[in-house]
Amino acid sequence: MSHAFKNSTLWEDDVERLHFPALNQDVEVDSCVVGLGASGLRAAMHAAERGLTVVGIDAGVIAGAAAGRNGGLMLAGTADFYNDACERLGQVRAAKVYQHTLDEMAHVLPLLEGNARMTGVLRTEETDEGLAQATAHFEALRRDGFAVEKYDGPQGKGIVIPTDGSFHPVNRAMRFARLAAQMGVRLFENTAAVSVTSNEVRTAGGVISAKHVLVATDGFLRRVLPELVDGVRQVRLQMIATAPDAIELKHPSYTHFGYDYWQQRPDGRVAIGGGRHHFKTSEFTDDDRPTQALYEYLEKRLRGLGVTAEITHHWAAIVSYSDNEQPVAREVMPGVWGLGAFNGTGNVIGTMLGRALVDQMIDGRSQILSDFFGE
Ligand SMILES: Cc1cc2nc3c(=O)[nH]c(=O)nc-3n(C[C@H](O)[C@H](O)[C@H](O)COP(=O)(O)OP(=O)(O)OC[C@H]3O[C@@H](n4cnc5c(N)ncnc54)[C@H](O)[C@@H]3O)c2cc1C
Repeated sequence: MSHAFKNSTLWEDDVERLHFPALNQDVEVDSCVVGLGASGLRAAMHAAERGLTVVGIDAGVIAGAAAGRNGGLMLAGTADFYNDACERLGQVRAAKVYQHTLDEMAHVLPLLEGNARMTGVLRTEETDEGLAQATAHFEALRRDGFAVEKYDGPQGKGIVIPTDGSFHPVNRAMRFARLAAQMGVRLFENTAAVSVTSNEVRTAGGVISAKHVLVATDGFLRRVLPELVDGVRQVRLQMIATAPDAIELKHPSYTHFGYDYWQQRPDGRVAIGGGRHHFKTSEFTDDDRPTQALYEYLEKRLRGLGVTAEITHHWAAIVSYSDNEQPVAREVMPGVWGLGAFNGTGNVIGTMLGRALVDQMIDGRSQILSDFFGE
């Protein structure tokens, strides 16, 4: 039963967490990053690489929200499937953005020290409509020279994208945090921004004066930047995970237009998420407690894959979706930049846009942002 679980993830079971103090004095820096998920950490690292002094703060612990509680799928492109992205952005821009996400993965992979597995990710579909869409996805990627194969095998029918992969979300964030600290970024946990204005972030323990402020609080974006209340909605996503299972799910996968997704870890444990399409109203919430209804849905999905192992975890976390289905990555008030609303797939886009925003702050332009937003 769902209530037997404590909203903890399998990713916390085998991780060595780094710990950072809470801020207890006023500080003055070039750049302050609010929110230390993967997006904020990547932005902080990049700002340090570019010579800025940086402070990063998180209301809780590093990767305590979605960045450490997600499915760990590392997918190129935007939340749209590539063929849909071509319709939304136009073929030329969609191809540029897709290439930027491939480049981002190539940048990040060496930093992860073997924590990522580039096994290719499957998109399977179970209906004629789904398979027709998977074919359109395949054809658009092929047409534009990106890697994709047809798949018809033990894991179903669809396409496999060989350049996609999976990783351990908390390990990724810990690796980023270690590197950021080595680069001189000062990181503070249990330090919530209580107000963010141009050049100033107030916390209970001290005021941070900063030329640039980057708010990377995805699921909490509208809370930290009330300017973004219109058009950004909080959504709960849920997952369950099992003890090691004898099944072999070679490829991490998503199905049903990406609503359901899973990966099997090298130790045989399976993590599966999704089901939001059946519970759209209840999952538009900022309450991160997992629910019995989603547990039952995910359990059924899991057993349908042939996994019989005991279920050991059930958890949820909050992300942001935007009404225009595009991420937020822009200056919200002078010197304050908002980043988030990745519409469910922020593992690659989030870190890529974090890096891009830093370039935009420093140089007044970023190729990634102009390709993405067409400005
Ligand atoms: C169950 C689930 C499965 C998912 N699966 C996938 C997947 O397989 N692939 C994929 O690409 N995406 C996936 N996503 C989405 C992805 O996890 C997120 O888009 C991404 O992790 C967002 O990272 P982030 O660093 O931008 O934000 P977050 O990880 O949300 O980090 C924001 C941080 O801001 C902090 N914060 C909030 N308020 C304040 C404040 N006032 N002051 C200071 N700090 C504050 C929070 O404590 C948090 O640590 C999934 C999400 C969930 C929930």
